[in-house]
This record gives sequence, structure tokens and C-alpha cells, in this order.
Amino acid sequence: MSTEEQGVQNAQNAQKVHVDGLGKRYESDRQTVQALQDVNFGVDDGEFVCIVGPSGCGKTTLFRLIAGLEDPTTGAVRLDGTPVEGPGTDRGMVFQEYGLFPWRTVRENVSFGLEEQGVEKAERGRRTSEMLELVGLDEFADAYPRELSGGMKQRVGIARALAVDPELLLMDEPFGAVDAQTRDMLHEELLSIWSETEKTVLFVTHDVEEAVTLSDRVVVMAADPGRVREVVDVDLARPRERTDAEFAEYVEHIRGLIGE
Ligand code: ADP
Ligand code: MG
Repeated sequence: MSTEEQGVQNAQNAQKVHVDGLGKRYESDRQTVQALQDVNFGVDDGEFVCIVGPSGCGKTTLFRLIAGLEDPTTGAVRLDGTPVEGPGTDRGMVFQEYGLFPWRTVRENVSFGLEEQGVEKAERGRRTSEMLELVGLDEFADAYPRELSGGMKQRVGIARALAVDPELLLMDEPFGAVDAQTRDMLHEELLSIWSETEKTVLFVTHDVEEAVTLSDRVVVMAADPGRVREVVDVDLARPRERTDAEFAEYVEHIRGLIGE
């Protein structure tokens, strides 16, 4: 390896996530879908990055490849320099459909990953209480998911994902099923959790305003084949106001790229 190549390699290793030449093709008897083609981008430690793009551009596929739930056809995903070869507790996942266990209380849902890891009971209790406090659900520790609103369920999902102290928080349209007012509140909460925990967050959405509200950078994707169109740096102070002229310019620029 040349000195220059070594330099590039070191810079890539310093990134929390590195997506390199990533491609995914789905083949069946009837059709072939190039869900992703030559996708490249990096996420720095502690950064909040949104992936945005139209329906079907491969956002969930990208999420699943980074999560290690599927294997790429070409290229690789590296987490702290190590290729992803399957799921792991270094990545906490939050989905739109909550995925909570209905037979477990809020506390038992949050402690699930810690039980899986064999963390002993006292430490589990301590860590779970800390997470419930972080998402403001300490008073609902003994409630069951059916007793919670959509926004509260999603906060349980976030607490559960963070309980095992992952390197990366991966979220796929997590607030897609909640009403607009609750979503605004969850955005504020997520940003405060992010700054408190200093986690790296990769957040998938089709909602351009949501992406500009939340992220340091927006990876804008295009469909057929799924690919990166542009990576946009969002150079706006937080908290961000949708009514702000600069905010609107970012939204308009990204919508233009997507063709909305
Ligand atoms: P998005 O999340 O951006 O809406 P997806 O990643 O779900 O997009 O899908 C990207 C493309 O890949 C779509 O054309 C979709 O139909 C196809 N696709 C996704 N998963 C599969 C699968 N398991 N088998 C075949 N095609 C798939
Ligand atoms: Mg999707």
C-alpha cells in the first residue's frame, strides 16, 4: 500500500461507519431489482446523518445491509474499520413498527438486550432505569405497550436500542406512524438524547423537512438503481425553525434533487 493509500485507509478507519462501493441486487425468476448500486459515504463519530430519498430508492435495503440483516452483492460496510458480517449489539435499531414485545412491560422491553447479553440483574435494573429516565418514561416502567401512545412506544424503542450502549443508532422511518405534533416533540427529544449520549445516528426517512430538522448531513438518494445523488451539509444552528428562510432553502434544494 502506498503512503497515500495508507492515508486514505486511516481516514476511513477513523469514521464510525464507512459504506464502500455498496451494491445489492435482488433476483427472482420473474425479475431482477438493482436496489443499490455503488453507494459510497461515511459517517463520523458522533455525527447525525439522515438518508433521504423517494419510496423504493433502497433506503431500507441500505439500513438492512448496515444492520447486517442482509449481505451486499458488492462492496462492504465497515463499522469502526471492521467489515459488517452480521447483526450485532454494536448497532441499536429502531423501526417504524415499534417491534415491542406485547407480553413484556416497558421495563422488560428495555432490558431485553441486556438479558440477551447476560448482564447481571442489578446492573440491568440500573441501566434500564437510566434509559427510562433518558426518554422520560420512568413513570411508565410497569405499563404494557398496549397502554402507550405511538410516541411513547417509539420512546421505548429508542430506550431499548440504547440500553446496550451501541456504537451506532440505526433508525428506519421511526416516526412515520405518529401524528405531526408528536413527531415534532420526538425530534426535540431525539436531539437532546443524541447530544447527551454523543451517539452516532443514522436516520432513514422520506421526509425532507424531517431530515433538515435533524441532521448534520443529508445523504440524498435516487431510485432505479438506488444510488447517492448528493450529500448535503446542513450548516444551520439548532434548534432549527421550519419557518426560517435558510431552512426552506435546504428543503427546496433537496426536494429538487429528489424531483419532488
Ligand atoms: P425504500 O426503503 O427506499 O422505500 P427498499 O429498500 O425497501 O426502498 O426497496 C428498494 C427496491 O428493492 C424496491 O424496488 C423494492 O421493491 C426492492 N426490494 C426490497 N426488498 C426486496 C426483497 N427482499 N426482494 C426483492 N426486491 C426487494
Ligand atoms: Mg423503506
